[in-house]
Amino acid sequence: MQVHNLIGIGFGPSNLALAIAIEEKRPSGRPIEAMFIEKQPGFAWHKDMMLDQAHMQISFLKDLATLRNPTSRFTFVNYLHEKQRLQDFINLKTFFPSRREFNDYLGWAAAQFDDICAYGEEVVEVLPEKSGREVALLRVRSRDGAGQVHERLARNLAIGIGGAPNIPDCFRPLRDDPRVFHSSRYLGEIARQSGAGRIAIIGAGQSAAEIFMDLQGRPGAPKVDLIMRARSMRPSDDSPFVNEIFNVDFTDYMYSRPDKERAALIEEFWHTNYAAPDLELVQQMFKILYEQRVSGEERVRFLRRHDVRSVRAAADGIHLTLLDLNAQRESTVRYDAVVLATGYSRERHKALLGPLAPYLGAFTVDRHYRLQGTPDFRPSVFLQGACETTHGLSDTLLSVTSVRTGEIGAALLGAHAARSSAEEEAEEGRAVRI
Ligand SMILES: Cc1cc2nc3c(=O)[nH]c(=O)nc-3n(C[C@H](O)[C@H](O)[C@H](O)COP(=O)(O)OP(=O)(O)OC[C@H]3O[C@@H](n4cnc5c(N)ncnc54)[C@H](O)[C@@H]3O)c2cc1C
Repeated sequence: MQVHNLIGIGFGPSNLALAIAIEEKRPSGRPIEAMFIEKQPGFAWHKDMMLDQAHMQISFLKDLATLRNPTSRFTFVNYLHEKQRLQDFINLKTFFPSRREFNDYLGWAAAQFDDICAYGEEVVEVLPEKSGREVALLRVRSRDGAGQVHERLARNLAIGIGGAPNIPDCFRPLRDDPRVFHSSRYLGEIARQSGAGRIAIIGAGQSAAEIFMDLQGRPGAPKVDLIMRARSMRPSDDSPFVNEIFNVDFTDYMYSRPDKERAALIEEFWHTNYAAPDLELVQQMFKILYEQRVSGEERVRFLRRHDVRSVRAAADGIHLTLLDLNAQRESTVRYDAVVLATGYSRERHKALLGPLAPYLGAFTVDRHYRLQGTPDFRPSVFLQGACETTHGLSDTLLSVTSVRTGEIGAALLGAHAARSSAEEEAEEGRAVRI
């Protein structure tokens, strides 16, 4: 069995940018051989939120490469050039391409790594592979669509698996009910709800706002309730001084602060990224509510300061018991479908790495996003998108992805150089016997 220098789990923008960073580091040192495993059958970026009107919430200059290497052939500008759209894009006068176009850019870049990505396999487990008293390698176990299990060996790992849908406790028992689904499955699931006359959206962030606009704009639009605990919908603040927290050097500052200060920074700027749609979207929603008051026909409602207290599934629909937090009054409303725009959690890597827990302690990372292991644990395991508490709010976004992957690439080269060729040959020999 071949021993890979690096296996990347997930092939979204984070690990795709890492593939590019590694590719571009090749001329400067010993090449790092890498392969990636992606559970989707082909490259796709948040495909069930690929809404017609959606656009990027970040400048195209924060693409897969530019901030790390503006001369890279994987920049968004080069993509436009190759697609012969550069001049037309300039005439659009925007920093924010449509989400559809950015997805096409990502897919164009990913296609250049087809030979090193195994699509259609979900990694289910990572196991320690011991040599004497040390963990020398990692055994990565994945399952394909036909249920077949695959195993591969790696010296190092990069985990870029994105977030797991956050499902509020009261909705958990309805996990298998097709009428209740998370925003991450929106387009696929809403297509199955064609007869739904009344839909609830839970949440107050960008996804909730986009889904609200999408539903109300559909032919034969359903009645929609947007249910949120907040007093009002706040727009995200992307003004220039605030936006500095997404700068590359802010990661150094954030990482250097004590835990308490980091937590305070995240709290202070939380609304730049969470529960805060674009101002333009907020204005569009307000206009719809205003026009409804003019027409006198109530089709959409904003149920602010409302908390979902309990949920009951019945043949005629999903019944939500809502507490009006202002009036302290409960009411029960029936819906044909409920969309949970309730965000993501970033803890999934812990389950995947469960068998390595004895070596990884509290799952803390160093500045290079590498999990700190016990002295007898030799592989480097890097986390992408799961280090917000230590590296800042930019961690789950695209803001620093290109630079972060350059840093991980450099750390990998260091780890690679520290393992002599003789050691690697011995590992290959052992692996063949496994
Ligand atoms: C709808 C939406 C729009 C967004 N828009 C923006 C934006 O405009 N700007 C911005 O900065 N950020 C945006 N974000 C934030 C988003 O996190 C980043 O854009 C980006 O997707 C992060 O890339 P990633 O590779 O870390 O994670 P993901 O894009 O989530 O990719 C993770 C990949 O890992 C795969 N995977 C997961 N588990 C496994 C497994 N066990 N085995 C194999 N493969 C696995 C998944 O299938 C997926 O392809 C958006 C998020 C959403 C949900």
